[in-house]
Amino acid sequence: VAMAYDELLADGVVESFVGRGTFVARQTLAEVTALEGRASRQPPNRKMVWEGVFSERAQSPVVESLLDLYQVSTLRDVISFSGSFPDAGSFPTRDFRNSLHFAERTLGDEVYRYGPVAGYERLREYLAQRMREGGSDVTAENIIVTSGSQQALDLIARALISPGDTVAIENPTYPGAMTAFALAGARLLPIPVDEDGLCVEVLENVLRVQRPKLVYVVPSFQNPTGACLSWERRRRLLALAREHNLPIVEDDYGSHLRFDGDALPHLKALDDTEHVIYVSNFSKSLLPGLRIGWCAAARPVITRLMAFKQNSDITTSPLLQSALWDFCRRKRYDAHLQKIRPIYHARRDVMLKRLEADFPSGTVWTRPAGGLFLWVTLPTALDATELLYQVRQQGVVFSRGRLFYSDNPKRNTLRLSYGHVTLEQIERGMRVIGTTAKAMLGR
Ligand code: PMP
Repeated sequence: VAMAYDELLADGVVESFVGRGTFVARQTLAEVTALEGRASRQPPNRKMVWEGVFSERAQSPVVESLLDLYQVSTLRDVISFSGSFPDAGSFPTRDFRNSLHFAERTLGDEVYRYGPVAGYERLREYLAQRMREGGSDVTAENIIVTSGSQQALDLIARALISPGDTVAIENPTYPGAMTAFALAGARLLPIPVDEDGLCVEVLENVLRVQRPKLVYVVPSFQNPTGACLSWERRRRLLALAREHNLPIVEDDYGSHLRFDGDALPHLKALDDTEHVIYVSNFSKSLLPGLRIGWCAAARPVITRLMAFKQNSDITTSPLLQSALWDFCRRKRYDAHLQKIRPIYHARRDVMLKRLEADFPSGTVWTRPAGGLFLWVTLPTALDATELLYQVRQQGVVFSRGRLFYSDNPKRNTLRLSYGHVTLEQIERGMRVIGTTAKAMLGR
């Protein structure tokens, strides 16, 4: 108390008189008010303690792995074979800017309002039309536009998964799907992948004893292996879905990025019984920063997704959706696809050549006919984490295979993306990885 009085005296807000006591100093009301104002602006003297505040979900290992991924994908000044990013040098920025201006000028303030939850009507119609040309039986009513495919996966997980449900997924698979399902409380049921994609025979055996809530599959240029689900397996998978009333989530990030061989039909195009929930985007084939994807499914699914979308972000930017619609209707999207396919083709070829020339014997790899990456299995004595550590010192990074497994990770695997590296960087970076791997093996 004595110290507090001293403090007040030093501030001049009290006056002390020997024998009479201490009194509030004579000040104008304005001074007191000013003082109160100052006091209310003082920062609290203790920092917020965040430990223990986060939800159980936010403290799960799933969230740790997401933070880990983010760090790798934001590295700068390195030759990066990690991430599955498209080539920024090919972005059609000028044409897209023209479409932005056109949308803004012709639609006026419509593009600045909240838009419909399911998406900009004309874009939904365009997407439905495009899917019908590929053989899918859908209309705009079956489509919801989402903020990238990732949001579609998140909404699907929320709408279909209850804690404790199982989700059959490829092992290895796209980590963003694993985290979306895991954060909704799903147990992941790993099904192996080979050069023909998801091993549907294994799934068939599993279905005899287990009942997953859904199966998630990336049929075209599977992430991370680059494999394509064969014709026969596509048909078999749909037959299983019908037999077991099992929804299939078809994640098609990349069928439009095929540069080799004949196209295979989407699962959705083979589906006349509404089992397939189709998800796609413009992130790999056009501009990831638009954050535009979509989901096409049976109407009861779409209405549920709309409810969760409303709760998540209300709508995807109407300005960007209408600009994208304008860009597509002028056939600029098709022209862009024509332009980028040969670029990725050439990059994949150089990568394959370097694998042949620079990597230790006993290394095997996939030969994807499209997409942005391939999958490498090193001799078993090698650990990709150790290899990554060593090549990082030399300015090269890649994605370790273990990030893509939900079970039984193979430590000697890696995913190499050729999407956002130049031919010259591929030559240089692959040589670094290959020679380092050889040195680690002592050959
Ligand atoms: N699915 C797969 C298989 C992917 O590779 C990605 C992006 N890495 C996504 C979905 C998410 O795409 P988007 O950027 O559209 O959210």
